[in-house]
Amino acid sequence: MRFVYGPVASWRLGRSLGVDIISTKEKTCSFDCVYCQLGRTVNKTAERKVYVKTEEIEREISEIADTIADTTDVITFAGMGEPALGANLGEVAEVIRRQCPKTPIAILTNSALMIDVGVREELKKMDIVVAKLDAPNQRIFEQVNRPINEEITFEAIIKGLMEFRKGYKGRLCLQMMFVEENKESGVEMARIAAAIRSDEVQLNTPLRPCPANPLSPEEMERIQKHFEGLNATATVISVYDKMKPEVRVIDKTEVIKRRGAGD
Ligand code: SF4
Repeated sequence: MRFVYGPVASWRLGRSLGVDIISTKEKTCSFDCVYCQLGRTVNKTAERKVYVKTEEIEREISEIADTIADTTDVITFAGMGEPALGANLGEVAEVIRRQCPKTPIAILTNSALMIDVGVREELKKMDIVVAKLDAPNQRIFEQVNRPINEEITFEAIIKGLMEFRKGYKGRLCLQMMFVEENKESGVEMARIAAAIRSDEVQLNTPLRPCPANPLSPEEMERIQKHFEGLNATATVISVYDKMKPEVRVIDKTEVIKRRGAGD
C-alpha cells in the first residue's frame, strides 16, 4: 500500500490506521514547526490541491476492509504534511465512511486552514478533529510553528477554531506541543482552550526523535496544573500519563516513512 499505513499506536487515538492524502516524497506543509519529526518543510504551501486521487485511496482501503474492524480503533488523516491541503479531503472522508461505516474517522490538522469556511465544512465530516495549537500569541506562534507566509496568523486561526466549534458536533481535541519556546505559556493557553470549548486538550512534548528537546515529566506536570479546573467540559490528557495500545501492523514500511523507525 502507498497511501494507507499502520495501524500505529497513538497515545491519543488508540490503534490508528493512517491515510495520507498528501503522500509527497518530502513533507508538504504550511508550517515548519521546530519539533517536526519529518524534518524541515520542503514543499512550503498553503494552497489546496489534489495530491492523491480519491479512487487510489478507495482501492487501498477496500483491499484491507475485512481486517480493519479487528485491527483499528480509528482511521486517521495524517502523514507527509498537512492533510487539509488535500483538496479532496471531504470526498475521501465520504468514501471511507461508505467503506467502513462502523470505524470513526479522525484528522490531525495544523489548524491553518480553519480560516477557510469550505475547509471547516469538510472537517465536519470527521468524528474527531485533532487541531494543533502551540502558542498563546503571534510571537510564539512564529517561533514554534514558523508559518510559511504572513497571511497565516495566530488571530485568524483562533477565530477559525471558534467558528468551527460553533457548528461542529463531533469531538474537537486541541493538541498542544510544549517545547522550550512555549513552556511558560501554560496559563494563557489554558485560557484559550477554555474559550474555544474543545472537548479535549492533549498536552504533548516531542518524545520521538526530532530537532527539539522534550520537556521533563515535572515540567509537563506544572503545565497541566494550569489546565485543571479551567474548563469543566474538557478532558485533559498528557503524553507522559498515557500508555500506548498494542497494535497489529498491516503495513510497516509506510509507517516508518511517515513516523520514523524510532517510534
Ligand atoms: S504542522 Fe505538522 S507536519 Fe507541518 S511542520 Fe508542523 S509538525 Fe510538521
